[in-house]
Formats: sequence, structure tokens, C-alpha cells
Amino acid sequence: MKVEENLKSIQEKIDEACKRSGRNPGEVTIIAVTKYVSTERAKEAVSAGIGNLGENRDDGMLAKHEEIGHAAKWHFIGSLQTRKVKNIIGIADYIHSLDRLSLAKEIDKRAEETVQCLIQVNASGEESKQGLSPEEVIPFVKDLEAYPYISAAGLMTMAPLTDDEEVLRHCFRTLKTLQKNIQDLNLAHAPCRELSMGMSNDFGIAVEEGATMVRIGTALVGE
Ligand SMILES: *Cc1c(COP(=O)(O)O)cnc(C)c1O
Repeated sequence: MKVEENLKSIQEKIDEACKRSGRNPGEVTIIAVTKYVSTERAKEAVSAGIGNLGENRDDGMLAKHEEIGHAAKWHFIGSLQTRKVKNIIGIADYIHSLDRLSLAKEIDKRAEETVQCLIQVNASGEESKQGLSPEEVIPFVKDLEAYPYISAAGLMTMAPLTDDEEVLRHCFRTLKTLQKNIQDLNLAHAPCRELSMGMSNDFGIAVEEGATMVRIGTALVGE
């Protein structure tokens, strides 16, 4: 399938989810996750109107960035080893996988301008999942104040692989509640405007529950 056709049907589903939940579709950014596909396919996505690309490895991001450059914004969505930070700093516009202070420290050390970071939360409590537990998030956000180059732009989660709508909604609502609690703190370093949640299988529900960034690979550019 052409990316253009996939994008059209995904955008329609997002529009419908927004209608159901009284949201404005302009609040939802589609990130095309291109980790499985070629640079050519990523370029096709950009030509189809995608302005945001997601990669989960530093080498994958660098290779595609080399050819596509500023035609898209770059989202690092994978678990990030501390020693790899230097490779993506200045290239990734957003890092979605901030989950420990040692990583914050390294990002802060390498950065030359503010880095937009999303805190990864394990909202489902699955053992296999990366991210802070919901209880750890508020203290973590407060600790980030020590790192002047880090802006806590939002929260990110991966829901369990399930069709159980209630399980998915619970996970997304946990993130939304945390966002509200963080915003209520009114911290200059933690505006927390973004909720990065929803993938190919669950983005409609994520949008209903308040996602501002959906990360879509398979359904948009293929596997
Ligand atoms: C791979 C990946 C996605 C996209 O998954 P699809 O199911 O292919 O849409 C989204 N987020 C993260 C963190 C990923 O690693």
C-alpha cells in the first residue's frame, strides 16, 4: 500500500476519534515509525505529508537523517543507552524514552540547546516494559529541575498488546492523570504538553483518551 493511502485512512480514524471525544484533530501529531523500513519508504512518508519520523536506534536515525534532514522532525522512541546519547543529540527533536536520572544527566551534559524529552512510563505494570512506574513519575519530574537543558515536554507509554479495550483505556488514562498532576505543579522545566501514546493497534482509543502524538509504524509505512 502507498503511504499516502494508509495515511488517509489513519487520518480519518483520528478525525472520528476526535469527533467522539470532542477534540480537535489539529492537536494530534502522527509520527511515522520507520524503524522497520528503508530510507526510501521514509521519504515516501515525507512526500505524503508526514512531518514527524520515529526511530528506535541511533544508527537507524542517523542513516535516515543523513538523507532526509530537516524535512521532518525526528523522534527517538527506543530505549536509549547512555553512551549513545552523543550520537543523537542535535539530531533528535524529541526523545521519548527518558526513564532515569543518569540518562537525564548525560543528555544535559551533551546538549547545546534545550532538549524536548518525554518521560517513559510503564503504565500497565508489565514486567517486560520499560519506563518508570506511575508512582515514580512526580518525584522524577521534580528531580529533572537539576538539568537545565532538559524540558519535560510530556509523557510516553506503550500499552500492552491486547484487544481488551478496558485495559488499554486504563493505561492511557493513567498517563493523562499523571500529565494533569504534573501540569498542576506549574514547573517551568516541565510543561508536559504532550502525551505520546497509541500505535497501529490502539491509536483510536489513545486519541479518545487524549494522545497528542501517536506513533504508527505497521499501519502507516509497513513492517
Ligand atoms: C515500533 C514502535 C512503534 C510502532 O509500532 P506499530 O505497532 O508498528 O505501529 C511505536 N512506539 C514504539 C516505542 C515502538 O518501538
